[in-house]
Formats: sequence, structure tokens, C-alpha cells
Amino acid sequence: MFEVSVEYSFAAGHALRNYKGKCENVHGHNYRVQVTVAGEALNGAGLLVDFADLKAGLRGLVDRLDHRFLNEIEPFDQINPSAENLAKYLGDGLRDRLQDQGLRLQAVTVWETDTASATYRP
Ligand SMILES: [Zn+2]
Repeated sequence: MFEVSVEYSFAAGHALRNYKGKCENVHGHNYRVQVTVAGEALNGAGLLVDFADLKAGLRGLVDRLDHRFLNEIEPFDQINPSAENLAKYLGDGLRDRLQDQGLRLQAVTVWETDTASATYRP
């Protein structure tokens, strides 16, 4: 089995609901996202997937969040824009595209800071 990962960054604001602490107030993060996919077969070029294709899929999802207030964007107007929910949102958004390419989603990790992250594994 092979695994391939790409990373992408974006900046956004959020405020956590149902939470008591500093993060209930509006604040921002420079988020970092890592997506890891897995598969068995390499293509004729010796690649599981082209890094550029994987990044393009991630970019397509992340760009609607970049430089926005997450609490106002679907589905985060309903669910909390936590790192955990962001990771699942991005993973769910990539799943169909990956399946079409014969790839499995292994994990999505979202860092809010250099030392704090959440990982979603389907
Ligand atoms: Zn935060």
C-alpha cells in the first residue's frame, strides 16, 4: 500500500459556540490542513496520485473558507467550526473525488496552531 499526503493553508476567523473560554470570542487562525490518501496501484508514471491533482481538490474546498468568518458559511452556520468539524468537512468533500481515482481517504488533519491539531479518519 502507498500513502500520499499534501498540505494546504488558509486563514479564517471563527468563534466556538457552546464553549466557555477564550475561543468563544471571535478570533482567527492560520489553519494548516494535511490530507493523506492511500491506494495499492501506481500509474504508469510510478505515482499513486499526482500531488498537483490532490492539492487542486483540497484547494477547491478550502478556497471558499479562506479569509472568511467560518460561523457564517455552511455548514458552520449550523455546526461548530472546530478543527474536528473542519477536518471531517474537508474529508467528506474529497471522498467522491478520491473514489473516482481509486484512492481511499486515510486522514485529514487540521492545525489551528503549530502545536494543536485535530485528525479525522473515516
Ligand atoms: Zn479558534
